[in-house]
Amino acid sequence: MGANGFIPEDLADAEDWRAQLRNSIRDVEALKARFPGLPDPEGIARAAARFPFSVTPYYASLVEKPSFDDPIFRMSVPSPEELDDPPFLLEDPIGENRHMVAPGLVHRYPDRAMLISTSFCAVYCRHCTRKRITGAKRGAISEARLDEAAAYLKAHPEVKDVLVSGGDPLLLPTPLLERIVRKIREVPSVEVIRICTRAPVTLPMRIDDELLAMLRRHGPIWMNTHFNHPRELTPRAVAAAGAVVDAGIPLCNQSVLLRGVNDDPLVMEELVRGLLRARIKPYYLFQCDLVRGIEHFRTPISKGLEIMEHLRGRVSGLAIPCYAFDVPGGEGKVPLLPEYIVSKSETHTVLRTWRGLFFDHPEPRPAGAAPEAPAGTSWNDDFCARAITDRRTSDRDFGEWLEEIPEV
Ligand code: SF4
Repeated sequence: MGANGFIPEDLADAEDWRAQLRNSIRDVEALKARFPGLPDPEGIARAAARFPFSVTPYYASLVEKPSFDDPIFRMSVPSPEELDDPPFLLEDPIGENRHMVAPGLVHRYPDRAMLISTSFCAVYCRHCTRKRITGAKRGAISEARLDEAAAYLKAHPEVKDVLVSGGDPLLLPTPLLERIVRKIREVPSVEVIRICTRAPVTLPMRIDDELLAMLRRHGPIWMNTHFNHPRELTPRAVAAAGAVVDAGIPLCNQSVLLRGVNDDPLVMEELVRGLLRARIKPYYLFQCDLVRGIEHFRTPISKGLEIMEHLRGRVSGLAIPCYAFDVPGGEGKVPLLPEYIVSKSETHTVLRTWRGLFFDHPEPRPAGAAPEAPAGTSWNDDFCARAITDRRTSDRDFGEWLEEIPEV
């Protein structure tokens, strides 16, 4: 394998994404050949019989040791733990079937809809929310069904934003993906198209000139991708992300909080810093959906809050994703936030900073209130005194570090 996950040396045409797919590992015998010392092949086979798998040679090259302790291996190789099936886990945890308004088209929020365009992915992520769809068959939405979806969108001009998802839409041949994108673009009320893909992570060579030229023709297009661990940010993946951004396609990242992969504040900090360097905006950090087959990946919500606490103040706000849980039944995402408001009253709100200090925020005086409120009632005298001192300090320093701008 390439030392940095750039090109696996055992695959002659590693830069050809179709060759990557042709040479993907899809059964236990191929896994054993690729990873001598494979742990529990019988257990892997049992899990694979329930939930299929596929791993590109590129993604397999990122595995450092064939063990479920290795985050790349853990996310891509079936584990017997997937057969743990507590009753609160669901086939369709976020109610997509219930909100399917045309074949493949899910409409859960007023202004957004999502099109499930294919069931095909380069790597079948073991934590996938759509395990019920992905991997079973390599299918794409037919032209007739696409017409039905487009007809729904035309009849619902409130939908401004369409996510093309799957499976992974970038696994479709470019002309087939263009047929989908063009059909959506023909709906006058659709303003933005978003492509949801893990190809930059698992098959970065898929980001080729033909694809980018096609996407540019149908903008504005955004791309959501799915990096979960800093080791996925290889030079090859970063180059693919850079090509997307250079083509004028903003790139955002949706991670899933996964036990044994990224449930560590330092790992998550490294991930979001790496994403920002690669010009990818960390967008969401999802609490695991309640989907069958992923109990071993789930973490308590307190773990996600601990990670968010860690990130705030330590990394730029630009690098901080929104931590959220998609409520079962399709009722939407709930943002999950550490508590920063300590107390509230009509006159003051007490805030906690990321360092754990408290700050007393004076609320604006109601319209028509007396300019000088009685001391000790609605205004905090200490706070006012400190604010006046800070203001004077600021006034004094202002001229000392500014240079005059030359005439232009
Ligand atoms: S690429 Fe996306 S749709 Fe495909 S298996 Fe992974 S998470 Fe699921």
